[in-house]
Amino acid sequence: MKIKNINTFENLNLYPDFIENINSELLVKNHLLLTCIEEKAYAILDENYLAEGLNYLAKLSLHVEVAFLDEDSYERLFHRYLEHKKDNDLNSSFSEDEKEDFLEDDLSLSEFLKTSSDILTNEESAPIIKFVNSLFYQAIKKNASDIHIETHDDRGIVRFRIDGVLVKHVDLDKHIINLIVNRIKVISNLDISEKRVPQDGRTIVKIAKKSLDIRVSVLPTYYGERVVMRMLMDSSKIPTLEELGFDEDLTQSFRALLSHSYGMILVTGPTGSGKSTTLHSFLKTIATPEKNIITVEDPVEYKTNDINQIQVNTKSGLTFSSGLRSILRQDPDVIMVGEIRDSETAKIAIQSALTGHLMLSTLHTNNTTAAITRLVDMGIEEFLISSSLLGVLAQRLVRKLCVHCKKEDGEFFTATGCSHCNFTGYAGRVAVGELFLIDDDVKSMLKEGMKDFEIREAMQKKGLVLLSSKIEVLVKDGTTSLQEGLRVGMRD
Ligand SMILES: [Zn+2]
Repeated sequence: MKIKNINTFENLNLYPDFIENINSELLVKNHLLLTCIEEKAYAILDENYLAEGLNYLAKLSLHVEVAFLDEDSYERLFHRYLEHKKDNDLNSSFSEDEKEDFLEDDLSLSEFLKTSSDILTNEESAPIIKFVNSLFYQAIKKNASDIHIETHDDRGIVRFRIDGVLVKHVDLDKHIINLIVNRIKVISNLDISEKRVPQDGRTIVKIAKKSLDIRVSVLPTYYGERVVMRMLMDSSKIPTLEELGFDEDLTQSFRALLSHSYGMILVTGPTGSGKSTTLHSFLKTIATPEKNIITVEDPVEYKTNDINQIQVNTKSGLTFSSGLRSILRQDPDVIMVGEIRDSETAKIAIQSALTGHLMLSTLHTNNTTAAITRLVDMGIEEFLISSSLLGVLAQRLVRKLCVHCKKEDGEFFTATGCSHCNFTGYAGRVAVGELFLIDDDVKSMLKEGMKDFEIREAMQKKGLVLLSSKIEVLVKDGTTSLQEGLRVGMRD
């Protein structure tokens, strides 16, 4: 039977009872979906893969009718199957109570909130609580790192940061934004009556038997308050060196670098390029019970039991430099400073790297060799850099084109968007890095007073592969688009 109109499938149950004992992964691999139509069991096949489907179906020895679809219709049905599967997989890790609380479709919930705002008088009302809970639930489901709530003149918007990019989640009626912001303030111990000054807080939300640590920042803007919530990762999410996803050569060099007992390793790159994940992966690699590892971070992005983490708190005078100074009195072996952004921090960091500590930090520069100039600008002398710096990694996270919907367009591939990728055209990211090792050649170049671009040229001749060329490879082989390549610095 050939089915022409996919719309007849609107309410198709793609999880009929009779598939319970069938390996669904194999089913899908063989381009086969099973369902019931008018109480008859059907196997639905993609007409381009009839042989595969029929072959596998024969092995199953099921008594089913066979129906086939054209590629496009099959694809659409398959997406629907995947969506349900994703929901089912996720739901199975939730208790019944939690499902009640979180599984409300939050688009319809916001519709409800819109039309019933007159009965909502405070942030403790059940729909508001439900809505805020569902935001956390949806953010986890979509693998978002941050939730943004913005107020505009006529409405509000909730956006999620997914794979480093903001994606619109839902519109909010102007009248309920305040209630939502207030609810968030209540759970983060912030002052709900204070709307004119920025506030920072923290909250813990329990979802799927796991507690989720969330850092909350509220900022007054012209049209109202703006909230950004960063979901902090727990240590089980810290990737290993291999899982960071750099190429094998780099991963090997990281191991060699991290075997030093003292010296400084720097990671550079713009915000959102994965610097702190890399640093935490480095720490995880070297953490052993006999080492005292202390960090000073802003914010603490991963919570780990193996290391002592200090959160910068400018209000109470705990800055990177003052934190670093007190760390040094705590007899550390390894120190991680979230960022070197002033000469005081730079000086203490270099000093401690020279006096038997392994020092890890980040720096804001465009490329690896520019780190030298940056340190010199912060008042560090070249000979100190040459004797303390071990290596500089410049990194970017490049969004990968969604394999389900990317399209070849002339020389390159472009993003389209489908249900697999939240209609963004991208799914997942790949790390690319340029590693500048301070070897004897570099030390003598520093001694001769060579400028960073001259050192860069010399290193290139010696085989340093630039970040821009690595990005270009990803664009050419279709891993990512030209636009994304340019965004992350292909032409830099
Ligand atoms: Zn897609």
